[in-house]
Amino acid sequence: MIISVASGKGGTGKTLVATSLALSLKERDNVQLLDCDVEEPNDHVFMKPAFTRSEVVSIPVPKVDEEKCTYCGKCAEVCAYNAIAVMKQKVLIFPELCHGCGACSYLCPEEAISEEEKEIGVVESGYSGGVGFVHGTLNIGEAMAPPIIRQVKEHASHEGTVIIDVSPGTSCPVVEAVKDSDFCLLVTEPTPFGLNDLVLAVETVRRLNIPCGIVLNRAGVGDGKTEEYCQKENIPVLLTIPLNTEIAGFYSRGIPLVEGMPQWKVSFLELSDKIREIVNERSSDTER
Ligand code: SF4
Ligand code: SF4
Repeated sequence: MIISVASGKGGTGKTLVATSLALSLKERDNVQLLDCDVEEPNDHVFMKPAFTRSEVVSIPVPKVDEEKCTYCGKCAEVCAYNAIAVMKQKVLIFPELCHGCGACSYLCPEEAISEEEKEIGVVESGYSGGVGFVHGTLNIGEAMAPPIIRQVKEHASHEGTVIIDVSPGTSCPVVEAVKDSDFCLLVTEPTPFGLNDLVLAVETVRRLNIPCGIVLNRAGVGDGKTEEYCQKENIPVLLTIPLNTEIAGFYSRGIPLVEGMPQWKVSFLELSDKIREIVNERSSDTER
C-alpha cells in the first residue's frame, strides 16, 4: 500500500506525521519512507539514515550545432516551456527552464540539435532502523523537481507499506509525488490559512481520484471551520494532534514524535488501520 502524506501549505507537521507513521508501522510491516519533498527534504534529520547508495539525476538538454542551424525558429515554436529563443544569428538555450522533453531535437528540420545530460540533483537510499529510506535533493537553482521525484519513486517496494512525504502546495511536484498512491493523508492545522490551502489540496487529490483523510495538527488553535469543512465534504479526520509544547520541543530537536513520546505509537497504528479500511472498502466497491 502506498500512502502519500501531503499538505496544502508548508509547516503543518507533514514531516512529523510521515516519520512517526513509518516508525510506528515498522514493528508490524515492511516499511519504506520516500522523501519526495526534493526542494527541502528533511525527513533524514529525524530518521538519521545510513545511506548505502547515491545516484545522480540528470535530464537531457539541447545543444545546437550553429553550423547546421538555419535559424528557422521551429525549436522555439515547439518548446512549451520557453527554454529556447531564436535570434537572427543565434539560438539561446535556457537550461534551467528545459524539461528535457526532446521535442526540439526531434522536430529540428536540420538535425542541428543534439542532447547533453545536465545534472539536476541526487537520490540517496539506505536504512534507518528497520525502515527503508530514500530521498531526493534538487540542486540549488534548479527548478525541475519531477524527474527527481520519479527517480525516488522508482525505489518503491511492491510489498509492505510505502510512505511518501510530498512537498507542500498543489503544483506539479505534488501531483508527481501523490499520483499512484492508494491513499493521501492531508496534514493541516485548524487556522484560516490552513483551511484555505487544505481546500486546494483536497481538489487536487480528488482530481487524481485518490481517497484522502485528514490529520489535524496543532488542534485547539482554530475556530472549528476546518472540522466543519471536513464534515460538509465528507472527509474523515483520522488523527488529531493537539498544540503542545512538549511535541513542539521534540520536533525542534529533530526527535520523531513516537520516539520522544512512545504512547503516540498506538494512535499512529490506529491511523494506519483506518487508512487500510478505507482503501480495502474502496477496492471492494470498485470490484463490484
Ligand atoms: S529548429 Fe533547428 S534549424 Fe531551426 S532554429 Fe532551431 S536549431 Fe536551428
Ligand atoms: S527539450 Fe523540450 S523543454 Fe527542453 S528546450 Fe527542447 S522543447 Fe524545450
